[in-house]
Amino acid sequence: MLVRLVLGLLITVVCLAIAARRAVWLRKVIMSGQPTVDRTESRTVVAEAEAVEVLGQKKLLQWVIPGTAHVFAFWGFLVLGLTIIEAFGALFNSEFAIPIIGHWPVVGFAEDLFGVLVLIGIVMFAIIRLVNQPSKEGRYSRFFGSHLGAAWLVLFMIFNVVWTLFLYRGAQYAVWQNGGPEEFPFTNGGAFVSEWVGRMLEPLGLQANEWLATIGILLQLGVVLVFLIIVLHSKHLHIGLAPINVANSRRPNALGPLLPMYSGTTAIDFEDPADDAIFGRGRIEDFTWKGNLDFASCTECGRCQSQCPAWNTDKPLSPKLMIMDLRDHLWAKAPYILAGGDEISDAARAALPASAVAELDRPLVGSREGDPHRDTDGYTADGHRSNEGAVIDEEALWSCTTCGACVEQCPVDIEHIDHFVDMRRHQVMIETNFPSELNGLFKNVEQKGNPWGMNASMRNSWIEEMDFEVRVFGMNDEEVIPDEIEYLFWVGCAGAFEDRAKRTTKAVAELLHTAGVEFMVLGEGETCTGDPARRAGNEFLFQMQAMQNVEVLNEIKARNIVVTCPHCMNTIGREYPQLGGNYEVVHHSQLLGKLVADGRLKPVKPVDDTVTYHDPCYLGRHNKVYVPPREIVKAVAGQKFVEMERSGSTSFCCGAGGARMWMEEKLGTRINQNRSDEALSTGAKKIAVACPFCNVMLNDGVTSRKQEGKASEDVEVLDLASLLLEATRTQ
Ligand code: SF4
Ligand code: SF4
Repeated sequence: MLVRLVLGLLITVVCLAIAARRAVWLRKVIMSGQPTVDRTESRTVVAEAEAVEVLGQKKLLQWVIPGTAHVFAFWGFLVLGLTIIEAFGALFNSEFAIPIIGHWPVVGFAEDLFGVLVLIGIVMFAIIRLVNQPSKEGRYSRFFGSHLGAAWLVLFMIFNVVWTLFLYRGAQYAVWQNGGPEEFPFTNGGAFVSEWVGRMLEPLGLQANEWLATIGILLQLGVVLVFLIIVLHSKHLHIGLAPINVANSRRPNALGPLLPMYSGTTAIDFEDPADDAIFGRGRIEDFTWKGNLDFASCTECGRCQSQCPAWNTDKPLSPKLMIMDLRDHLWAKAPYILAGGDEISDAARAALPASAVAELDRPLVGSREGDPHRDTDGYTADGHRSNEGAVIDEEALWSCTTCGACVEQCPVDIEHIDHFVDMRRHQVMIETNFPSELNGLFKNVEQKGNPWGMNASMRNSWIEEMDFEVRVFGMNDEEVIPDEIEYLFWVGCAGAFEDRAKRTTKAVAELLHTAGVEFMVLGEGETCTGDPARRAGNEFLFQMQAMQNVEVLNEIKARNIVVTCPHCMNTIGREYPQLGGNYEVVHHSQLLGKLVADGRLKPVKPVDDTVTYHDPCYLGRHNKVYVPPREIVKAVAGQKFVEMERSGSTSFCCGAGGARMWMEEKLGTRINQNRSDEALSTGAKKIAVACPFCNVMLNDGVTSRKQEGKASEDVEVLDLASLLLEATRTQ
């Protein structure tokens, strides 16, 4: 017993000292970030998130097999926490049992059951890793670029936790069976695996089993404590950080609205910014502590990477690698930051480790030529990345479509888009370093109020093609929207100027007219919502556009607004409240769906063709509108509706979001082509969309396949409003 106590305490003290030192260092580094606004609405919301995402493992279970393996491991570790308490207790008292529950057979059963489930879980993890090896699948493995060796080491350590557990408990059982002290807490039964091991050890006799129990307990504690140190020095930090990150993440998630730019916890006033205002993120020190926590929490699982449209079309952007690069840079630069950052003394600077000095001159965003991850063929099997050049490849940063697939998938609630847009903000507003095509976008929005650079007088051109009167605000000297108007129809720039989107605008107007819905448009009073400028990082231009629109909408007392563009919906409905504009905004699929359900629109002429539907990212993932568009398509197509494999929350972007619509796609293959090919592969003759940008992108993708002779001439991409209109027309 004395040997057990002395060695046990020695291992514990040494390991806990190392672990505590690391934990304190991690806390200091993470909290060195900028302050962040409190995003948690209430303790109830946080408790619900913890219950659903952490205890319920909801996001992990989106992928059934790896999710199940993780449930086994996660719950196994919670339950096996009891066995660690028992092992520590046995250092001091060989007959230790946890008070009250310590002898309950059900507890012994649960401990052994979860020990087995953990073993099953690690076998599943091992198989998943062997099947999805980067050396076999290249960049399309979700583990491409992850620390593979560390992952195997952790699986090995978990295995060690379980076998040492059963060793010491089996030996305890055998001690008892040999007439020794009652060290085994579950002599009333329940611990079925421990008993089974114990029966095999029983013939060794009392003394040998007493020694085996001691060795097993010391091994168990040693493995657990070394594992703790490994966790604190690896990507497995997420074991402790994930619940904290979930508690501090935006709710319901970091999709939909972007956050305003903050100086401390106050939104930056662009007319009179504070002297110390930080414009976006230009250095790792500019990120908030929540950003640092995000970086530290990444499990390197690669779920985000596997869904990313940019990564899947051979661009250098992987959301996982971006987060890992930011984390690695933060860790490497930490000695400098903790020594005072810009205020560092000469003596402290001279004492910095070489690894920190090497990071000081690296720009946060810039060229990363030579990075093997940048080049599909340059992959190195050990996942090594060069730390030459900038931390974040500018080509990767500008490849993001802000589609939200990464945020949707991330099991630890990392807020990728917020970080990427924040870096874009610095590049645009401070460095003036952005793709040259965006100059045209910014100029057109600023000078003409729309990305196409069209004259405002053209906004009403579609109205001239209608054979009924469309009410335009102000034509009859209205000062506010009249009471009888049910909806202000926000046409949007695409809906007013882009030919394919204009077809949607006219279809929606005709359907509303047919259903007897009183609506009005703003006409020349509309200007760009600012969405593309905001997602391109030009927050200043967004603020100008948004304030102008909010002023107009508030002045005319707009309340209910219908839009055809999910980007307008997201911006007006969910971002304008940041500037005092609060409106009920619905997408036309929601309103038209309701009109069909109410019998005010009757699809009397079902389409004969097979129809598929493409979920726009800003309607689906960002705003969770999945059902109404499908109800319309099903009302029109019935049994001829066919889903694409990537649909709903796992839909694949068309490539236009995040202001990508206005940038050249020079790297890799085309995102819109990838999505169009998937739509074509369903055999559908009609590809329904619900966003003007998706309409353009998929139309272009299908047209190019037609030109190559790879798609039938009668395949058509059209908005679901046009589809519904066709079905409601009797002649
Ligand atoms: S938002 Fe979409 S494009 Fe951007 S990193 Fe995430 S998955 Fe990739
Ligand atoms: S960012 Fe999230 S989804 Fe991506 S690898 Fe890290 S933990 Fe996994």
